[in-house]
Amino acid sequence: MTTATEKQTLGFQAEVKQLLHLMIHSLYSNKEIFLRELVSNASDALDKLRFQALSKEDLYEGDNDLKVRLEFDEKAQTITLSDNGIGMSRDEVVTNLGTIAKSGTAEFLSSLTGDQKQDSRLIGQFGVGFYSAFIVADKVEVYTRRAGMKPEEGVRWESRGEGDFSIETVTKEERGTRIVLHLKEEEKEFANGWRLRSLVKKYSDHISFPVEMIKENMDVGEEEEGKEKAESAPEFESVNEATALWTLPRNEIKDEDYKEFYKHIAHDFSDPVLWAHNRVEGKLDYTSLLYVPAKAPYDLWNREAPRGLKLYIQRVFIMDDAEQFLPLYLRFVKGVVDTNDLSLNVSREILQNDKAVESMRSALTKRVLDMLSKLAADDAEKYQTFWDEFGRVLKEGPAEDFANREKIAKLMRFSSTHQDDDKQTQSLEDYVSRMKQGQDKIYYITAESYSAGVKSPHLEIFRKKGIEVLVMHDRIDEWLMSHLNEFDGKHFQDIAKGELDLGEVEDKEEKQKQEEVSKEAEPLLNRLKEVLKDHVEEVRVTHRLTDSPACLVVGAYDMGVQMRRIMEAAGQALPENKPTFEINPEHPLVKKLGEEQGARFEDLTWVLFDQARLAGGENLKDPAGYVSRLNKLLLELSNAG
Ligand code: ADP
Ligand code: MG
Repeated sequence: MTTATEKQTLGFQAEVKQLLHLMIHSLYSNKEIFLRELVSNASDALDKLRFQALSKEDLYEGDNDLKVRLEFDEKAQTITLSDNGIGMSRDEVVTNLGTIAKSGTAEFLSSLTGDQKQDSRLIGQFGVGFYSAFIVADKVEVYTRRAGMKPEEGVRWESRGEGDFSIETVTKEERGTRIVLHLKEEEKEFANGWRLRSLVKKYSDHISFPVEMIKENMDVGEEEEGKEKAESAPEFESVNEATALWTLPRNEIKDEDYKEFYKHIAHDFSDPVLWAHNRVEGKLDYTSLLYVPAKAPYDLWNREAPRGLKLYIQRVFIMDDAEQFLPLYLRFVKGVVDTNDLSLNVSREILQNDKAVESMRSALTKRVLDMLSKLAADDAEKYQTFWDEFGRVLKEGPAEDFANREKIAKLMRFSSTHQDDDKQTQSLEDYVSRMKQGQDKIYYITAESYSAGVKSPHLEIFRKKGIEVLVMHDRIDEWLMSHLNEFDGKHFQDIAKGELDLGEVEDKEEKQKQEEVSKEAEPLLNRLKEVLKDHVEEVRVTHRLTDSPACLVVGAYDMGVQMRRIMEAAGQALPENKPTFEINPEHPLVKKLGEEQGARFEDLTWVLFDQARLAGGENLKDPAGYVSRLNKLLLELSNAG
């Protein structure tokens, strides 16, 4: 800890400089949000003070009338925002107003494109916070003193929002923070009472604390009185409702209020897609307000990224990012939970083992799943945009939340052979409603991409019979399917695994014919086994192929090709699984193969085997051997011709 009191000039962290630059340019059309960000910070600071004062009343210093004050000076072109919240120490100022604490900031910034519209959306999800002051101000001063510290331990911070800031120790009698914005010449219109009032109303009506402004003189008649009053302290009045939004009855809340409140708690500035506001009384007593954002945050895949709800107990803010109230696969949900069932001195550790929290968690999980189901039913298009953004996270659900897996499965969307693009738009209910007479399984194939999937020879018989197959091409799909055994009482079947049994879809005649063909092919199967020996588990006649000569099938309980590829890429050593080699005796090449002998039979066998590997999206063990055999055959062919 520094004990410096002298004036220092310090450089901003490189990321801050970059963010300042980008923000000023890309948020130009959205500049009024600076006020929401600063009021939001003031409100957070008041929340923190109230929380810390629970165990240390002295922090109030005799003043527990918590509020935000907004003043302006038209002539000087300044706006001043003060709060009597927690304040900051000198070290805290250096960290909070000189760096960005979020992990992954550098990666995030480098993902920006320079396209103003695109970037402004991204920066919105990132949350610009305090630095947004520099959209409208060319100089910002911050005076602050941490609650509990001495008046002489106040801090003054100043910056022009370029490369650096200065910091010095000053005396500040009142605890909390005062921010003075020196408006840019072209933004001076913000130093206007009517404008500021309407912005506070618009953006900060339902934060928990009053935002006060000097009382306006209503008419000329009061002018005289006003003059007298000028001698005494000016009178302030609250310009916002100052009741925490979630405590109001639903029918008193406008959509706009819900949206603005979301921006305050989520540090996002796009509108949310969806929200659910509920009060529960009885065995448990709590209110929840849950939101689904429109866009995935930049750090959705960062395991350390903060997640969870804002926790209030009896209306008192307790902590941000209380992650115990929702499962990991719903980590994109933002919101507030306010309960009377926990004691005010609760800690993260206690939350982890608390029965009431566990009950709330399962109720809130259902709440989110229900709200998503409702969206899917009411507005398929909007639901699709949600799925495109967060579907992959939801796919973690069945593994994490066994009890709700059927509900989650209903929310899933996949690609299928029923469509001709790679969009994930088919629900399992859609699929089931289209199942063929006698079909008792849900068929799927996993592949590296949609186009690789639909070209797989494994699909041939399904095409011929007109049976739909789900084409799963997300990296996590094979893993997901290992946790989803059935849907609506129907088992899932990976069509590249195990023996294929189309059940009732095939009639007796077809089955009989298959048996005959198998019997006839027996001598050939034995000869193939002789050649492929240790490389295969089994050689058999296929039921899958109609156009291709051969394919490889993975054992019913073995790891699939996609999963194997991902694990190997991650450096995992895996035991070898021998595939089953299936041949199509009706195919001219296979018929020809049956007539061959000796070296030529062996070469042709290996070529067919390797081709089956390739068609299944696998790599060859001996590519050079394949090429030389194929060339030999080609040469013989041209010699013969
Ligand atoms: P965020 O609010 O997302 O944390 P900001 O950029 O808005 O990010 O603010 C950065 C940090 O500066 C806050 O987390 C807080 O610690 C501190 N801060 C900002 N404004 C105030 C304030 N009025 N009182 C106390 N601390 C503040
Ligand atoms: Mg903030």
